[in-house]
Amino acid sequence: MSESLQHRYAGAVMNTFGPPALALVRGEGAHVWDADGKEYVDLLGGIAVNALGHAHPALVQAVTTQLSTLGHVSNFFATEPQVALAEQLVRLLGWDESARVFFSNSGAEANEAAFKLTRRTGRTRLVAAEGSFHGRTMGALALTSKAAYREPFEPLPGDVTFVPYDDVAALEAAVDGTVAAVVLEPVQGEAGVVVPSADYLAEAQRIAHEHGALLWLDEVQTGIARTGAWFAHQLVEDVAPDIVTLAKGLGGGIPIGATVAHGAAASLLQPGNHGTTFGGNPVAAAAGRAVLDTIEADGLLAAVVERGAQLEALLRKQTGVVEVTGSGLMRGAELDGPYATHAVASAREAGFILNATGPTRLRFVPPLVITAADLDALDAALPGILDNARAAAAPSTTPSTTETTP
Ligand SMILES: *Cc1c(COP(=O)(O)O)cnc(C)c1O
Repeated sequence: MSESLQHRYAGAVMNTFGPPALALVRGEGAHVWDADGKEYVDLLGGIAVNALGHAHPALVQAVTTQLSTLGHVSNFFATEPQVALAEQLVRLLGWDESARVFFSNSGAEANEAAFKLTRRTGRTRLVAAEGSFHGRTMGALALTSKAAYREPFEPLPGDVTFVPYDDVAALEAAVDGTVAAVVLEPVQGEAGVVVPSADYLAEAQRIAHEHGALLWLDEVQTGIARTGAWFAHQLVEDVAPDIVTLAKGLGGGIPIGATVAHGAAASLLQPGNHGTTFGGNPVAAAAGRAVLDTIEADGLLAAVVERGAQLEALLRKQTGVVEVTGSGLMRGAELDGPYATHAVASAREAGFILNATGPTRLRFVPPLVITAADLDALDAALPGILDNARAAAAPSTTPSTTETTP
């Protein structure tokens, strides 16, 4: 079954992601099943998307009810779910009545809207970080540092200066009165869960504001309770970004993106400056409402902290894991050799979906509803998974290829 779907995939779908590892048919909680009936514990969660896991009744109910009431109307009209979701996001950010939200359908689109918003400051230069990932559309790609993603598509929109991440002096040197915004991930996700020094974001904010530039935090991956706070920047003192971009976990699997700004930044985009047909569609907004409501009602912030500590502890004690980064249920594990892609393959054999962000690095971004028992199962299986991966990697002298990223 799996094999025939993979064959049809290759004959019908553009080859941008490489061959799919599995054909999946069903999910429940933090578990998924493939087309051959094999069960997996999902430690990837659709790349930090399935906040409520798979087939959560609250999400199913919200989407079903909304779709059977009013599915789509275009942005010529207001709908209750869209307005309510915007209000809820502003409340969770703790922002004042100046705050406004623009809804779209993905992380890249949330960043495109923010990129356009910064152009309305009258300044055109942006400062972004090395190791950053902001998406694959032309504007988002212009802010993404990885040469392999960028170079085939140049020229990209300018004018972007890249500085080393977590380097205050480099920011200090790069930011001046020509800079519209400094754009940073509070924790670099695609780079493998790279956490900056405790004062980095506050320093970035100070430097940006000293020069009249905006601080724009891309929380597409870190947002929506992933790190144990609603937004990762809330874990650090004295950080109040002007713009936050969101997507991934927000819809729990239904596509939605959001660009949230407050203060002067909130009114830079004026009628005619930007638009979208689908963005903020009532079904996607209802999904966002269900995700946020369920996180609140089920105490998932506390669960993320607790399960996150369990995940961290089990990773730290593994032979071969030399560093564990991140917080909550967003964790990176650095291996003592280039066998991360082999670990992903041997984990699959053992019934676990893992993810490698590079030859030596694993990333764990499971559903926020993952149970202690799921993590106990990982704890029991991981020594064997890593042993097998080391053995598989050993005979090879060629460097292993890395998993493709979105
Ligand atoms: C995934 C990601 C994006 C891009 O989101 P898409 O929905 O794939 O367009 C942007 N920024 C960050 C930090 C991400 O992790």
